[in-house]
Amino acid sequence: MNQMAKDTVEDAVEMNFSTAELQRYSRQINLSQVGKEGQRRLKEARVLCIGAGGLGSPAALYLAAAGIGTLGIVDQDTVDLSNLHRQLLHGTNDVGREKTDSARARLLAINPTIVVETYTTRLSAGNAVELIRNYDIVVDGSDNLPTRYLSSDVCVWERKPNIYGSVHQFEGQASLFAPHLGGPCYRCLFPEPPPPEAIPSCAEAGVLGVVPGLIGIIQAMEAIKLIIGTGDNLLGRLLHVDALTLRFREFNIRRDPNCPVCGESPSITEPIDYEQFCNHSNASTVQGISATKLHEMISRGQEIALLDVREPFEFEIARIPNSRLIPLGTIPDRLTEIPRTETTVVMCKSGVRSARAIEFLRGEGFENLLNLEGGLDAWREEVDPTMRKY
Ligand code: ZN
Repeated sequence: MNQMAKDTVEDAVEMNFSTAELQRYSRQINLSQVGKEGQRRLKEARVLCIGAGGLGSPAALYLAAAGIGTLGIVDQDTVDLSNLHRQLLHGTNDVGREKTDSARARLLAINPTIVVETYTTRLSAGNAVELIRNYDIVVDGSDNLPTRYLSSDVCVWERKPNIYGSVHQFEGQASLFAPHLGGPCYRCLFPEPPPPEAIPSCAEAGVLGVVPGLIGIIQAMEAIKLIIGTGDNLLGRLLHVDALTLRFREFNIRRDPNCPVCGESPSITEPIDYEQFCNHSNASTVQGISATKLHEMISRGQEIALLDVREPFEFEIARIPNSRLIPLGTIPDRLTEIPRTETTVVMCKSGVRSARAIEFLRGEGFENLLNLEGGLDAWREEVDPTMRKY
């Protein structure tokens, strides 16, 4: 036996890797940032992928190939022909099959040395805590808001990093939510869900298959970096990619000290009814104005103040010209900056936070406040289709 082969055998015994495993991961182990210790950590890691769809497919494929020892996959769906342009875990012959089933088969075909644990169910308020508790890291590839809020909340409570991804048409974004590591959670970014009618799904809006591919791989990469403990991660950063212009941008995001889940005095400490939370309609008595009407008034040169109550990173992504940013949480301290007599149109992404701002301001004696109905999403839809979507 030559020296190199002898080393390999000794390493294998020492690291609890077979020689085939050492060979499989050799290009990765050669990286000084990974090494045998990093590979051992990957093998001991347990990563839960929520969803085996557009994001979960590329994420799980790369995690399996990289040697994540135990991969969990949660998905309740069966494979549909319309999934296949982006959900590369599944093939044409899998149409009609449970996604967890075809996912397991494909992942083990790539790497039979790992363990794939599947859950053919929807992540729910009833099962999420127990499921997530069993893993080290969550890769959230869910395609709906109730699941996203649920997975983020449970990760906060269980102190697990939650790697977030979402896609829309040609755009995608990713981040790492981990309040226990100092970053924000999903709710810090989006305290209120937009009205259900404002959120088109992939089915309605369409998505270029490569986009979830890009984002899902970024999610996998973040998981691997966290496990081996190297590099800078997306904590406190929201990465945005526009595939049409192929531009990556990033926005600083902060933890909200008033966040109801990860804030200083949390009001939500166990799973809630997420469907209801995301489906509530804005039944407030706040007076509204449509985006089209506001545009007409501005075009006529009417004197109107525009108050945007979103977060700075959102303002940086998209805004209506001449609007003034005062984030919702800072309004109580900045009342003197808000006009008392002039008609003021208050806006946010979807009209929910701005309605809350108006309710608060009315209590402080402000009048002449109008809520931009449907928020900037409606403005994009009705007035300015070139406005960046997020
Ligand atoms: Zn939070």
